[in-house]
Amino acid sequence: MLILDGKIASAAVKATLLAQTQALTIAGKRAPHLAAILVGNNGASETYVASKVKNCEETGFESTLVRLDVDVTEKILLDKIIELNNNPSVDGILVQLPLPKHIDEAKVIETINPAKDVDGFHPANVGRLVQGLPTFIPATPYGILLMLAHFDIPTKGKNAVVIGRSNIVGRPMSILLSSNIPQGNCTVTLCHSRTKELETHCKQADIIVAALGKPEFLQANMIKKGAVVIDVGITRVNDNTKKSGFRLLGDVHFESVAPLCSWITPVPGGVGPMTIAALLKNTFQACQQRH
Ligand code: NAD
Repeated sequence: MLILDGKIASAAVKATLLAQTQALTIAGKRAPHLAAILVGNNGASETYVASKVKNCEETGFESTLVRLDVDVTEKILLDKIIELNNNPSVDGILVQLPLPKHIDEAKVIETINPAKDVDGFHPANVGRLVQGLPTFIPATPYGILLMLAHFDIPTKGKNAVVIGRSNIVGRPMSILLSSNIPQGNCTVTLCHSRTKELETHCKQADIIVAALGKPEFLQANMIKKGAVVIDVGITRVNDNTKKSGFRLLGDVHFESVAPLCSWITPVPGGVGPMTIAALLKNTFQACQQRH
């Protein structure tokens, strides 16, 4: 069993981006600029946004963090997005999800200029992804493609099972793995909460992407020997032995599943760092398109 190490693969992506950014600035152009909007102070969201900002700095990007109160009105949030849409120095805009219940998430996503939608959630960009046109690929599935490429994992003709059909992970992942692209050409089964006999589907999979948000859901009895297992899940579970009071668990029961796999991602240190690397790649792409 080999580890798909997201720290190693993301470092390679970021090193390339840093060199490309330095080349831009040497040529007298400005560095890519990501603006992140954080509503409220959810612990996990704070951590994700802080990490995105830190990674921008490490890659020579500019970043702006806009913090809004948890009870901010939808109008104020939409106006802020419009302001960033109209700001010529901003290349990419992301609104950290989830948002408080009183705010319409779909409306927020549709307000972002598709040319600055580096999360790739705008319906115009999702439509382009489905049609195989150049677009911003949502960061988590894009990060997984970059990881598969980095470790040279063959995908052509393989049976892939994606568990979870969310707009940000499972559904775009299933579309990409089935697309005619270098890390695609799989025969894909998309499983979800209403799937019957999930175990049977998983047992036939050469590649499994688990994105359901249920800690340690995927057990050894669901795995075909030699499978590639990609664990997207991140759930905080209480752990009094940790200073933070919690530990992170993936959707895969690593101890029992890992010995059966050819490759497997750890949690943390697998898909998480790749998601950020992919977001940075999208921001660089947005900047280049605007230059
Ligand atoms: P979501 O809650 O939007 O979707 C979960 C999906 O899982 C749903 O489509 C549902 O049908 C399916 N599901 C739920 N229970 C199931 C079951 N018993 N059997 C089969 N399918 C089932 O979640 P999401 O936003 O896609 O996130 C999934 C997980 O990935 C979460 O733990 C989240 O924190 C994590 N995540 C990690 C990253 C990262 O960078 N590593 C990024 C995004 C999300």
